[in-house]
Amino acid sequence: MAESSIFRVGDGPVQIDKERIAARVAELGARIRADHPDGDLHLICVLNGAFVFMADLVRAIDLPLTIDFLSVSSYGSRTESSGEVKLVKDLDQSLKGRHVVLVEDIVDTGLTMQYLLGYLRGRGPLSVKVVTLLSKPSRRVVDVPLDYVGFEIEDAFVYGYGLDVAHRYRNLPFVTSQSEA
Ligand code: 5GP
Repeated sequence: MAESSIFRVGDGPVQIDKERIAARVAELGARIRADHPDGDLHLICVLNGAFVFMADLVRAIDLPLTIDFLSVSSYGSRTESSGEVKLVKDLDQSLKGRHVVLVEDIVDTGLTMQYLLGYLRGRGPLSVKVVTLLSKPSRRVVDVPLDYVGFEIEDAFVYGYGLDVAHRYRNLPFVTSQSEA
């Protein structure tokens, strides 16, 4: 995806309202659709944070796609990500011979994504692409390929639209870094 098509959220508090998210999700869906003209597409949602994004994204992709879910937990705090990732819920379906798009909420250090890509590639898919709603490039410690990025944001802890604060606020329809949301 061309750099110019990535939305940047600049300095200051992050606030991405639901209309802006909806417009971006529609664009991402159209791009993913265009990149898979033969219609063969398997979307994998990383639980829990990507569940809202996934639900909107699949409805923005006009293909008879299939879906699956997995869940991972990371050891260490957000600021001291250890890179050790544990698979908590495995996939239900085989990836052999399938074109996979991994759907993530946010890529921070990239360590979780590095683990997930290794895991998925080891299961025999034809291809693996990544779509993430949010990316914090300034926080990256490993280089991971991101095929589709919704919004690049500065280093701020964000929540809403699936992302939590201590298991709450996932149901907010917008993304924010502001504590009074
Ligand atoms: P990474 O392995 O890239 O450092 O971290 C990825 C995971 O950390 C995400 O899937 C998410 O669970 C969590 N994370 C990173 N930044 C944020 C944030 O700003 N807000 C929330 N709620 N979770 C975050």
